[in-house]
Amino acid sequence: MEVLTSIDSIRLFIQKKRLSISKIGLVPTMGALHDGHLELIKFSKGQNDLTIVSIFINPAQFNKKEDFEKYPNKVSEDIKKLEGIGCDVIFMPSSKEMYTENETLKFDFGHIEKLMEGEFRPGHFSGVGLVVSKLFNIVNPDRAYFGEKDLQQLTIIKKLVKDLNFNVEIIGVPTVREASGLAMSSRNLRLSKPQKEIAVNVYKSLKLFQDLLVVNSNVFQSKNQVIDFLKNIEGLELEYLEIVDTYSLMPIKEVIQHSHISVCIAACVGKIRLIDNITIIN
Ligand code: AMP
Repeated sequence: MEVLTSIDSIRLFIQKKRLSISKIGLVPTMGALHDGHLELIKFSKGQNDLTIVSIFINPAQFNKKEDFEKYPNKVSEDIKKLEGIGCDVIFMPSSKEMYTENETLKFDFGHIEKLMEGEFRPGHFSGVGLVVSKLFNIVNPDRAYFGEKDLQQLTIIKKLVKDLNFNVEIIGVPTVREASGLAMSSRNLRLSKPQKEIAVNVYKSLKLFQDLLVVNSNVFQSKNQVIDFLKNIEGLELEYLEIVDTYSLMPIKEVIQHSHISVCIAACVGKIRLIDNITIIN
């Protein structure tokens, strides 16, 4: 497995490889890898001749300094995991390698970035758009893999690819969960054991929403019941709970008229912010 840190070295490596291989898959990550990330890599390995995993904690997508500074960094464990799963190349650039000193480029994804994550993390999706565009230009992959856990991110990336005519197919990969239902996340490493038990309620509330809608299709009433459930959980602070069209991400008022519906949530347990979603009608 190659571990490359400079843009020139990965470009040269890919240029040589392109002579003998057909399809390249890219899995962008911020490291502290868990089974959710490994699932993306498995998908890529199954569909491509070469899989490149990038590990880069992208400063541009953090709107809070503390979140960036405390983001887990587990490089040596990550390298071992990637070796174990048969990853071909790790691209692990520094911030200096990825960004010039005075980068001012910003993305505006319109209404999608004003909702949910966009509302609570101003500038986040612009930073995501920037780093993903850079990675696509550096690696020029045939396919790129993103988790459905970050549903809004997946929607934004699909828009980015369409609007900028990137020649890459975006593959969404289903969320990998712990046995408790908690969605795997690098941020879970920062949860204490009692906090982890509290965090399980994030997924429970999504399932509750789903169950309530089966009995009563009134979105407003069901949402309020779920909010009440969450209010009673000490140590958990809800940021948003939205029922949306899976593709447009626009909030929906009536379940009956829609065919693709997801419920999305963000909540904090202590200082750790967790997001999750489930599809309730596919
Ligand atoms: P991150 O390192 O958190 O930026 O995540 C890198 C990629 O892994 C993103 O496309 C995430 O959506 C995806 N991912 C993170 N957690 C999970 C999970 N539990 N299941 C599936 N994909 C995930």
